[in-house]
Amino acid sequence: MRALQLTGPGTLELREVPVPPIGPDDLLLRVGAAGICHSDLHVLEIPFRLREDPLTLGHEIAGTVERIGERVTGRAVGDRGVVYLCWSCGVCRECVRGNENVCLAAGRAAMPPCPGLGPDGGMAEYIRIPATAFVPIGDLDFAQAAPLADAALTSYHAIDGARDQLRPGATAVVIGVGGLGHVAVQILAATTAARVIAVDVHEDKLALASAHGAAEGLLADAGTAAAILDRTGGRGAEAVFDFVGVDQTARLAVECVAPNGAYRMVGLGAGAPEITAAPAGGPGWPWGATVRKSYGGTKSDLIESVALARSGRLRVEVEVFALDDGREALDRLANGRIRGRAVLIP
Ligand code: NAD
Ligand code: ZN
Repeated sequence: MRALQLTGPGTLELREVPVPPIGPDDLLLRVGAAGICHSDLHVLEIPFRLREDPLTLGHEIAGTVERIGERVTGRAVGDRGVVYLCWSCGVCRECVRGNENVCLAAGRAAMPPCPGLGPDGGMAEYIRIPATAFVPIGDLDFAQAAPLADAALTSYHAIDGARDQLRPGATAVVIGVGGLGHVAVQILAATTAARVIAVDVHEDKLALASAHGAAEGLLADAGTAAAILDRTGGRGAEAVFDFVGVDQTARLAVECVAPNGAYRMVGLGAGAPEITAAPAGGPGWPWGATVRKSYGGTKSDLIESVALARSGRLRVEVEVFALDDGREALDRLANGRIRGRAVLIP
């Protein structure tokens, strides 16, 4: 089968590899679609090898059950589904409480094995997955379903953890209206009463946010925090979702989050918000505000994201590419030229 593999630091190759064998608790999926996440670009930028042998990328995967491990029950060949990306232990305290995304078995890194990062991912014709990772999607289109595995899962989790702030009359700021951000705008619109203000560096991304329910879009510049304070009676936004996570956006969040508000860092831009232990008038970190570095989501977050998509209230904007054009799609993402999510069809 063909697989898009990382063969060295920054080196991507479309290779012919064997269809993976499966164990007794696994499924073999025929991949219907695999989304491209900005995290794949971060992986390509890492100056070391993630593992010794070539690694198939892709952690947003939807497909059809092709083969079933002998101990697996309740699945049939032909079942359609999406792959939950936290391959957690399932038995630790966090897992049994439903917090599989911070599984204790993964240690302080708190990142359970994720396809495309440790085990082989879904930018290939087939993938082996643990049967527990399979979430049914009914008749949802594969290109729509694949991005639910991360773009929706991670956005949903960040929003759900700040739900207490998102009451009627509240303002939510979404920074970065890309694959995750344009989905976050829709989840906010569909599941909360908050007014959404979108922030991006590209005008067309702000238009995308408006098309999906944002009340307003602001270009990121030196005046953005003041503009948000202006629209919130000087108090700031009850929740700020940062899908970029660089110093500039961290500063914006510090300067525009309301007292007792929620700042959720999702983007992996290595930005450092300045949170000082001092009374803050002016632009500093306000009393009572919380910050969370939010990773992935729980399986129930994915099931609820699938339900939103199946009900028609979440529609991922996708640009479809053939697997052979993976490099081109990644380059376009790097240049900010993807509207919504790029999806590969093997
Ligand atoms: P994307 O490239 O599709 O979207 C990023 C958006 O941010 C683009 O619209 C871009 O124009 C905008 N942007 C860039 N710089 C900006 C700035 N300074 N101010 C405002 N907007 C800016 O990326 P994506 O796939 O949506 O991923 C977003 C981030 O989230 C990435 O860093 C990715 O690695 C990370 N991520 C984190 C998790 C997690 O679990 N924490 C999961 C998935 C992705
Ligand atoms: Zn666990």
